[in-house]
Amino acid sequence: MPGFRELLAQTKKNIHEVDPAEAEARLDDATFLDVRELDEYEQGTVPDSVFIPRGHLESQVENKVSKDKPVVVYCAGGTRSAFAAETLQDLGYTDVVSMKGGFGRWKDEGRPWITPQVLTPEQRNRYHRHVLLPEIGEAGQQKLLETKVLLLGAGGLGSPAAMYLAAAGVGTLGIVDMDVVDSSNLQRQILHNVDRIGERKVDSAKKTLTQLNPDVDVVTYDVRLGADNILDIIDGYDVIVDGTDNFPTRYLLNDASLLKRIPVVHGSIFRFEGQVTLFDPYNGPCYRCLLPEPPPAELAPSCAEAGVLGVLPGIIGSIQALEAIKHVLDLGETLNGRLLAYDALEQSFRTFKVRRDPNCPACGENAPPIRIAEYDDLCLPHPIEGPPTS
Ligand SMILES: [Zn+2]
Repeated sequence: MPGFRELLAQTKKNIHEVDPAEAEARLDDATFLDVRELDEYEQGTVPDSVFIPRGHLESQVENKVSKDKPVVVYCAGGTRSAFAAETLQDLGYTDVVSMKGGFGRWKDEGRPWITPQVLTPEQRNRYHRHVLLPEIGEAGQQKLLETKVLLLGAGGLGSPAAMYLAAAGVGTLGIVDMDVVDSSNLQRQILHNVDRIGERKVDSAKKTLTQLNPDVDVVTYDVRLGADNILDIIDGYDVIVDGTDNFPTRYLLNDASLLKRIPVVHGSIFRFEGQVTLFDPYNGPCYRCLLPEPPPAELAPSCAEAGVLGVLPGIIGSIQALEAIKHVLDLGETLNGRLLAYDALEQSFRTFKVRRDPNCPACGENAPPIRIAEYDDLCLPHPIEGPPTS
C-alpha cells in the first residue's frame, strides 16, 4: 500500500503543474478553479475564479466549468489541486494544470486577488433553494442582492411582483404609488390588509416586504409619476416592472425607459385576461412599436374602472417578477419579442411574436429625439408639453 507521499508523487507524475507566473499568463483564456474550503475562499481568491470545494468537485464541476476551455486549478499550497487536476482529467477535461504553491504563493508574489462577496450563513440558508440551482448558485444570488428593481404601482400587479421579488432576494425594490389603501383593494392587492386601510400604499408595501425579507432595501416614492420626475426616479434601476393601469403612464414610461435604456416588464389585466411582455430598449420592440400613439379615450378601457377577477393579477404579476429575474440572471428565453396572453376562462396561455418596428416613432431608425411629454388623465392623444429634457 503506498502512503500519502507516494500517492502524491504518483499523482504529480500524471498531471501538469505550472508556477503562478505561468498561471497568471493564462488569466484571460483559462478557467481558474478554486478547490479550497469556504473559510479559505472567503479570505481571498483569484478574480473571476470558479469556487468548488474539493469535496464537491466531482458532483459540481461539469455544471460550472466548461470542458472546452483550459483549466487552472489551485488550492492553498498545491496538494489538493494536484489530486483535483487528476480527477478533472478522469472526467474528460483535456487541458488542466495545477498551480504550484497555490493561492499562498500567488498572493505572496503580489499577483491580483480579491475578497469575494459571499452570502452570510443566514442568507445561505434563506436562499438555499436558489443556491442549489447551478444556473443561479451563490454568484447568481449575490447578483440578485445587488439588483435594483423599480415597481410602478403597489396594486394588483405590483403586489405579487413585489412580494416574490423580495422573497427571491432582489436587494433594492423601489415602489412608486400615490394611492391610499382602500378596502376595495383587498380583493387582489395582497401587499395590504385591513389594518392598513387609509394608510399610504407605499408605506403599507414597505412594511409587508420588510417583514418578508429584511435583506431588501425598500425605497418608496409617494408621488404621481410625471414628465417632471420620471427620469430622476427611474435612474439607476436595472429593470422596471410596470403595474400601471393607464395609457398616459405607459407612454411616458416607454419614452423615459428608452432614453435611460432600462428594460421594462410590461403587464396588463382586463376582466379575465392578462398580458405580459418584456421591452428591452433597442434590443427588441418597445411599447410604441406595438401601439404608436395612445388610443382615444372612448377606446381605452383601462382608463375607466373595469372589473377584474381577483386571482388574475396574482398570475400576471408573478410572471412579471419571473421575467425580471430571468432578465437579470440571463436565464432561459425572456419575453423580449414575445407577448404572452393569458385567458383565465379558457385556462390558456398563448404567445405572439412582436417585432421591433423600423418606423417606430420612438425607437425607429429615423425617430426624432425622444421628448418626455405628458399625456393627460383622460387618455387624450394630444401630449401636454412636459419640461424639456437634455
Ligand atoms: Zn419602438
